[in-house]
Amino acid sequence: MYLETPKKFRALVDQAHQVARHYLRPISRKYDKAEHAYPKELDLLAALLDGMNAGSPDAVGADSASKRKDTAVEEGVKNGGNLAACLGVMEMCWGDVGLLLGMPRQGLGNAAIAAVANDEQRERFSGIWAAMAITEPGCGSDSAAIRTSATRDGEHYVLNGEKIFVTSGARADAVVVWATLDRNLGRAAIKSFVVEKGTPGMSVTRLEKKLGIKASDTASISFNDCRVPAANLLGNAEIDVQKGFAGVMETFDNTRPLVAAMAVGVAKASLQRTRELLKSAGCRCDYREPPLTASHAEATLYRLEAEWEAARLLTLKAAWMADNRLPNSKEASIAKAKAGRVANEITLKCVELAGVLGYGEDELLEKWARDSKILDIFEGTQQIQLLIIARRLLGKSSSQLK
Ligand SMILES: Cc1cc2nc3c(=O)[nH]c(=O)nc-3n(C[C@H](O)[C@H](O)[C@H](O)COP(=O)(O)OP(=O)(O)OC[C@H]3O[C@@H](n4cnc5c(N)ncnc54)[C@H](O)[C@@H]3O)c2cc1C
Repeated sequence: MYLETPKKFRALVDQAHQVARHYLRPISRKYDKAEHAYPKELDLLAALLDGMNAGSPDAVGADSASKRKDTAVEEGVKNGGNLAACLGVMEMCWGDVGLLLGMPRQGLGNAAIAAVANDEQRERFSGIWAAMAITEPGCGSDSAAIRTSATRDGEHYVLNGEKIFVTSGARADAVVVWATLDRNLGRAAIKSFVVEKGTPGMSVTRLEKKLGIKASDTASISFNDCRVPAANLLGNAEIDVQKGFAGVMETFDNTRPLVAAMAVGVAKASLQRTRELLKSAGCRCDYREPPLTASHAEATLYRLEAEWEAARLLTLKAAWMADNRLPNSKEASIAKAKAGRVANEITLKCVELAGVLGYGEDELLEKWARDSKILDIFEGTQQIQLLIIARRLLGKSSSQLK
């Protein structure tokens, strides 16, 4: 693995950065203030992103992990869709995490489809915007406790249950819903289903008001005898008790590096702006000087920058492993744990380092601190990532180490 941004991705990364700078940043505060208003500017941006991705095997969006199966091995490409997606997402989140999360066709459900759909499904669902619904009122970290049920009825499954905190749940074209085929069979019976917007029996019941990422809608969705075509069950319908949770869990191997990339992006924004503010306040921030002679503010900044670099490299490693079809569950969790944690620390420390400027609304620093918190929560909290890593390192199952 090379540590530089691959040459073939540099143009895409640069384009993503330009989009973030010229389109996301200018509307960042507007949609932070107007929670639940649809950022209509994103329609144009999503079309632009589609254009950037068209015909390119190395796309920058959240769904480009799907390209990995086509490129990584068959053509011997070592840097594929996963790495490109992470690099692109880092730049876009340097612009605005909430807006990136609200970007049409870039939902976490898209990455889920990319991870577990078969070829026919990937083709059929290509171009849709998909949210992902796992969490329920009685089930968060412990996704094995899902109660939403899916009962086979002829050529359909009938879904019943309630999902909460679904990012883009009200705006997306479809929701990838995790439901159990048989509660008695535990994790192995949990499958994911693509439920298209407007399907009778599916309704959005509530929109959340949140601490950050206000540009992104977060919905509760209820399913009452909601009939979904059997062909919308992603992956294998068989309940393989040996394989357990593995089928749906593959989703996280794709999505966790993306969330880590979001954390790296917003943390980079905070560090950059703080460095500018410190410099304008007289700090030298001169890396040629020995750290011992640095002021406390400078030394803190250097330490945060080192943490950021570590998070960035771990994120790229997890994505690179996916591109090369190396099992990356542990590395995806390591990246997510490190990036989520340091992004929280960095963005909040930057508020502190910038003093009153950091706390006020004239700067975006306070917003980035609020926006970054979610990145250490969704797609598995900090504690859950550490638990997964420990299980992998110690060779213990989820029942042996809880
Ligand atoms: C803005 C937002 C957007 C979201 N988007 C989505 C989405 O698109 N789709 C979706 O399905 N969900 C989404 N979620 C839900 C999110 O994934 C959950 O909040 C998260 O998984 C944690 O679940 P919980 O809130 O039920 O907390 P709990 O599981 O109740 O955990 C509470 C606390 O206990 C800790 N904890 C739990 N179990 C353990 C353990 N075994 N060991 C140590 N500590 C433990 C947790 O780390 C956490 O700190 C979103 C949430 C928010 C806030």
